[in-house]
Amino acid sequence: MECREARVAVSALVDDELSGEQKRLVEEHVASCAACSAIAEDYRRIGRSLKAAAFVRAPADMGERIRLQIARESGGDRSPAASGWRTYASQAAALMLVAGLSASAAWHLATKRSAHNSLQGDILSAHVRSLLQDRPTQIASSDRHTVKPWFIGRLDYAPPVRDLTAEGFPLTGARLDFVGDRRVASIVYMRRQHVINLFVWPADAGAAVEPGSSAVKGYNALTWTADGVVHWAISDLNLPELTQFQSLLAGR
Ligand SMILES: [Zn+2]
Repeated sequence: MECREARVAVSALVDDELSGEQKRLVEEHVASCAACSAIAEDYRRIGRSLKAAAFVRAPADMGERIRLQIARESGGDRSPAASGWRTYASQAAALMLVAGLSASAAWHLATKRSAHNSLQGDILSAHVRSLLQDRPTQIASSDRHTVKPWFIGRLDYAPPVRDLTAEGFPLTGARLDFVGDRRVASIVYMRRQHVINLFVWPADAGAAVEPGSSAVKGYNALTWTADGVVHWAISDLNLPELTQFQSLLAGR
């Protein structure tokens, strides 16, 4: 694996979003490459302070300086799309200031963060859209042996489907949705009168998923990766109960 490839995947590695051969290759590269290892170290160091850092304002010209520096570091082959890079660059500038990151690490974090926010917007829209329908499911069933096969031929992966009826989160069915430019499975659960949409799709390298919880427009959302699958649960259910739902799914 070369640095270029490794750098796209290194944040996913740090967030434990990689598995199998991919994980092994990235780990192997990072272990043998001082530059990539330094970037991985940056990612670890910044940890949870990332969220706070995104709100710090950077000097106006710093974004441009970072963009130029990154262009130099990557041999001039980085040509970010016109829309977006200014945002990334200013966020990257803030990250550099707060966390003392290298320009490359800050850039990757900023683009990842921005992609995460855009995913979060998609998730929220999909959830609200589902609530506006007569019902949030295309296949209504509490039997996972009915729900799981329904996805065959509709998706290129087999989403994990579990029934949590006994635990107070009955499975009510599923549907297809569109999130982050891909078709995804939404498995639909209920808690009393609250609909929980659980979006799942395979984790891949550089996936813009930051594990954690967030509150958006009155909804709680939880994000995590398990067994190579990205999970995104969203509901107007309170956070403690949504967290309980997550723990049950994780089998804890
Ligand atoms: Zn490297």
